[in-house]
Amino acid sequence: MSSRFSSATPIVSVVVPCFNEAENLRPLLARLVPVLEATGRSFEIVLVDDGSRDETVAVARGLAAEDPRIGLLVLSRNFGKEIAISAGLDHARGAAVVIIDADLQHPPELVTRFLEAWDAGYEVVHAAQKTRPEEPALKRFLVKTFYRLLGALSETKLPKGVGDFCLLDRKAVDALCRLPERARFMKGLYFWIGYRQLQIPYDPEPRLAGGTGWSVGRLFALALNGLTAFSTIPLRFAIYVGLAVSAIALVYAAILVGNVLVHGIDVPGYASLMVGLLFLGGVQLIGLGILGEYIGRIFEESKGRPLYFVSDFAAPSGDAAFAEAPPTDAATSRTRPAAE
Ligand code: UDP
Ligand code: MG
Repeated sequence: MSSRFSSATPIVSVVVPCFNEAENLRPLLARLVPVLEATGRSFEIVLVDDGSRDETVAVARGLAAEDPRIGLLVLSRNFGKEIAISAGLDHARGAAVVIIDADLQHPPELVTRFLEAWDAGYEVVHAAQKTRPEEPALKRFLVKTFYRLLGALSETKLPKGVGDFCLLDRKAVDALCRLPERARFMKGLYFWIGYRQLQIPYDPEPRLAGGTGWSVGRLFALALNGLTAFSTIPLRFAIYVGLAVSAIALVYAAILVGNVLVHGIDVPGYASLMVGLLFLGGVQLIGLGILGEYIGRIFEESKGRPLYFVSDFAAPSGDAAFAEAPPTDAATSRTRPAAE
């Protein structure tokens, strides 16, 4: 492991993306910390404030002051969950990194199971939702349609019900950190990187306090990101539709010519002309739109801007219980027994 890390490199890092989660942080840690302590491994918790507009930073600062194992990374503005997670991964030092939502929808107790799977050699361990009960039927339908579409269009097959609640081995974290793209559809990237993967089914809990940070518009943007980042098949849309329309046009032309030969010249045809014109115009605009989507993304990526800016980082200062452990094996060994 690189010398970037001090002797107190934790075994497990927990990254928590937070956007307006002031009321949830304390209850989350009250459940999470005992779970981590019970595993007998050194750990750190990195709270990532994603430009919250409530008291999240103040609450997180208080928590970090109370417990040296808790660190706080404050981003300069709201960059979105995908980037907040990436920022957290960049700053997490553990040999394994757990990503968990701040709103307690992800039961912290599952982390124990994650670690068992990690010990068994899995490098990417995901919690897979059995159900998503509290959501409106329309949203459920749209989400389902999106995953179907993605499954049909992309070579990266996403397992069902998998979100961001997961454990990543250091190898997987380093792989994700090496991806330079701005359009980070994390759900896809977790699988795209490969490694030994396992899914553990679980039932999500209702959000503790506050509302979801995802508006319909943002979800739609995320879906578009996912589709365009993991498939170029839409670009072929114009070819397929073009071929189909040409075929239909050929048949129609043959019918028209036949008609003229049999019945002589016939002038009417305004309706068919109009329909053909409008249909083709629509198809062309859709094709242009798809091209535009991809070109816009090329433009975004080509600017090569940094993913995020940090306005403040208070690194966790260490796990007192493990501080005296020998420095060398801390980063490499997977399972270290509790300190004596
Ligand atoms: N989140 C974030 N930035 C955002 C939106 C959300 O860091 O712009 C965090 C949020 O604080 C929570 C997690 O991402 O910890 C999941 O968000 P949320 O509960 O709103 O989404 P859902 O559970 O509906 O997927
Ligand atoms: Mg939530």
